[in-house]
Amino acid sequence: MTDIETNLKEILTELPPKVRLVAVSKFHPNEAIEKAYAAGQRIFGESKVQEMTQKYEALPKDIEWHFIGHLQTNKIKYIAPYVSLIHGVDSYKLLSEIDKQAAKCNRIISCLLQIHIAQEETKFGFSFDECTEMLEQGKWKELKNISLQGLMGMASNSDDMQQVRNEFHLLHSYFWNIKNNFFPCMPTFKDLSIGMSHDYHIAMEEGATIIRVGSKIFGDRVYGYPSD
Ligand SMILES: *Cc1c(COP(=O)(O)O)cnc(C)c1O
Repeated sequence: MTDIETNLKEILTELPPKVRLVAVSKFHPNEAIEKAYAAGQRIFGESKVQEMTQKYEALPKDIEWHFIGHLQTNKIKYIAPYVSLIHGVDSYKLLSEIDKQAAKCNRIISCLLQIHIAQEETKFGFSFDECTEMLEQGKWKELKNISLQGLMGMASNSDDMQQVRNEFHLLHSYFWNIKNNFFPCMPTFKDLSIGMSHDYHIAMEEGATIIRVGSKIFGDRVYGYPSD
């Protein structure tokens, strides 16, 4: 049996004050989230729109729901009323669609830009150049219902921890480059979301302000959960 409370506390004791933990509960049932909630955790991360929305409806309303998956534009409307932070924004088009749906809900939705730092081609995200270009282009400044709060990245799925460290390190330098160039007087641009179960220690050493940890808290994921 996975002892969710023990796992959670173990991670929380390692967390410096400036780092927030997203408990990644995707593919785990409500009962697992309730255990973490009872132990004090309030931020949960999900990667499917339908699954997150069902959980939002069933669970306590003071939970902050972070969407960490790949978001399709036609599904934004389902999460727009309640999502706290969207981690994986990887195109201007997606950002502007989030803005539209946020406006309909009379909300300002916080977003992170996802940067592709891994070697695998399958992972989503802007390249450094694409992201800089999008920000230079400047149209994002007209979007009044989104708030850009930082960057998100996933390292290579590798046992080579030096490789993982280098990728996080590069993203951290890029974060400061972007912050200084485009958000110099905006304290809201502050977050670097890096680090998962197997690499969050390295991520914290390399400047993470948000870590996204799933299996280390909840155990192995049970696939077969209704997906969308
Ligand atoms: C699933 C997932 C995580 C959590 O992964 P674990 O290895 O279980 O900690 C973190 N970030 C993203 C984007 C994910 O999809």
